[in-house]
Amino acid sequence: MNLFDLTGKVAVITGGNGGIGLGMARGIASCGATIVIAGRDRDKAEAALRTLRQDGAQASFIVADVTKTTDCQALVSEAVKLHGRVDILVNNAGISVRKMPQDLSEDEWHHVLDTNLTSAFRCARAAYPQMLRGGGGKIINIGSMMSLFGAPYAVAYASSKGGIVQMSRALATAWAKDNIQVNAVLPGWIDTDLTRRARHQVAGLQGSVEQRTPGGRWGSADDMAGIAAFLASPASDFVTGTAIPVDGGFSIAM
Ligand code: NDP
Repeated sequence: MNLFDLTGKVAVITGGNGGIGLGMARGIASCGATIVIAGRDRDKAEAALRTLRQDGAQASFIVADVTKTTDCQALVSEAVKLHGRVDILVNNAGISVRKMPQDLSEDEWHHVLDTNLTSAFRCARAAYPQMLRGGGGKIINIGSMMSLFGAPYAVAYASSKGGIVQMSRALATAWAKDNIQVNAVLPGWIDTDLTRRARHQVAGLQGSVEQRTPGGRWGSADDMAGIAAFLASPASDFVTGTAIPVDGGFSIAM
């Protein structure tokens, strides 16, 4: 028995064209799954496809803006057209607008919630019939340390990431009978485009993360590969509704 064999499975990863999404795509691909990465930036996607193909993966890119319901539906149907099925969905696309609550506009609030939380619901709904057809599935939703903690500059982001955990639990209870497992991953501080911008905007962030993290360093996108492989594979068939920190110990340290 190979607990991590994903041969013949198809995984869709939103925002899989860079950062954490690409790290997760590489982890899932290493188990043999075909990869579909989705996002808006074609140049980034071309580079990501080269990386995945160099790893030996079969991989495609589908343009999708996850704030659009039609794009999420088209993403799933296009993936099925290309590869015949969808077994694994990673809801990873996300943004942050760093402002104090009193300075955040209602439009900015909606944009963050829509991109980080509602999009995951949209894609999960779009993928559900295909997972049913395939006899089961795996949904991996990306939360954050902000699923657990608050920060003054992150009212919308923290709300969206708290919501990701509760949405994962609710979907897990709804779809367990269909052999669909739904889990959340809560990354610690990972070196990506998103946090490169944060390091410019939040004074002292680089050092404070290193100091608080028992692992003593920022994470890399590659650090996210293993949890993705686990939650996408038969090894996690009795794991559902959880929210698993992958954070070098950040969330257990004072
Ligand atoms: P990146 O900015 O590198 O990646 C974000 C990805 O989301 C991009 O590839 C982008 O693709 C995609 N994306 C954003 N908006 C949309 C949209 N409307 N439609 C489709 N795709 C979209 O950041 P990370 O890799 O760091 O972030 C990935 C996830 O991990 C996010 O959900 C983030 O909140 C979460 N996270 C990150 C942490 C970190 O420390 N880095 C910590 C905790 C959570 P494109 O440019 O093509 O639109």
